[in-house]
Amino acid sequence: MSYSLVDAGVNLTNHQFDDEHLEVITRAKNAGVERMLLIGCDILSSEQSLALAKTYQQFSTAGIHPHDAKTATDSLESQLTELASQQQVVAIGECGLDYNRDFSPRDVQRNVFRRHLALAEKLDLPVYLHERDASDDMLSILREFNIRGVLHCFTGNSAALKQYLDLGLYIGITGWVCDERRGKELQQLIPSIPLERLLIETDAPFLIPRTVKPKPKSRKNEPSLLPYVCQTIAKLYQIEEEVVAKQTTENFYRVFGLEAR
Ligand SMILES: [Zn+2]
Repeated sequence: MSYSLVDAGVNLTNHQFDDEHLEVITRAKNAGVERMLLIGCDILSSEQSLALAKTYQQFSTAGIHPHDAKTATDSLESQLTELASQQQVVAIGECGLDYNRDFSPRDVQRNVFRRHLALAEKLDLPVYLHERDASDDMLSILREFNIRGVLHCFTGNSAALKQYLDLGLYIGITGWVCDERRGKELQQLIPSIPLERLLIETDAPFLIPRTVKPKPKSRKNEPSLLPYVCQTIAKLYQIEEEVVAKQTTENFYRVFGLEAR
């Protein structure tokens, strides 16, 4: 691998990675994935992601995923504020709305999402956003706040994409784009994402790219497979992989305010 990449979304605290954090990070580095953003999806995993980020010199987020919105307590703001005071924590999230699975009631999701956005605004931190089948509510809630950040794992349509871009958000693309069937609409949209707003991520251990060769026995994704996402995206833009790698790395450092570090 002749270029280096940043994985803008890894769920390293997922039980599928228990006891192999060092191995996963080492394989990632050997594949050119130097840095990664470790995603917190509830208070415990936000704390664990921070601990891993400290141990392995990576970055992390702090927040509650919409699936777990019902676990938020009155202490949410103080818990996230304390986590965000650590320099490894570069964004509030993963937060947002998921009407695909509805693991938390929608009114609870909206309420907890607004609390994340208000806190991010107050702390002047970027947000790390998750949205599935909820773009109308997502967009109208986002417009209530003055925020910046990333819409991670974008899988929506062109109308939603345009509005997210108009809000100044960066767009995270995962191995979903490597799926020749369900990723078809996304593949067509990729060239309309300005390259300077693009981030790439694995969302590991989920969403293993279907382009991985030889075809792996396990469906477990990991950050060392990020180059497959980079490769597919480069083809869709009809540019060199190195250009995608360099630009998405720059974008990562810019959106999370890490340029001076
Ligand atoms: Zn997500």
